[in-house]
Amino acid sequence: MMLANYGYKDASGDFFITIDTDKCNGCGDCVNACPATVFAVVDEDPSDPLREEPVAVVSVEKKKKLKYECNPCKPQTTRSVIPCISACTVGAITHSW
Ligand code: SF4
Ligand code: SF4
Repeated sequence: MMLANYGYKDASGDFFITIDTDKCNGCGDCVNACPATVFAVVDEDPSDPLREEPVAVVSVEKKKKLKYECNPCKPQTTRSVIPCISACTVGAITHSW
C-alpha cells in the first residue's frame, strides 16, 4: 500500500491528510468537494515516478496550514460527513485529526 502524507505537527496536534495512492483513481471528486481547494489531481504520481496515472495530491501551498483550511469542515462527529472523505467513494482519503 502506498500512502502519501501531507501536513505537519505543531504544539496543538497532528494535522495530516493521507491519500492512499493505490486506491486513488484520479477521479477529481475530492477536488470538487473541497471548499478550500486543498486537493489537486496531477498526471503522474509524485511519490512513484514509475506510475504514470492521475492521482490526487494536497496542494503545496495548503499543506502547511491544513488546520486552518479544514476548520470550516470540523469539528464533525463522524468522518463520513467531511466533504472530501465522503466524496471519495474508494476510501482513499483519511485525516489524522
Ligand atoms: S476523490 Fe478519492 S479517488 Fe478521486 S481523486 Fe480524490 S482521492 Fe482520488
Ligand atoms: S476537511 Fe474540508 S477543507 Fe479540509 S480537505 Fe476536506 S473538504 Fe477540504
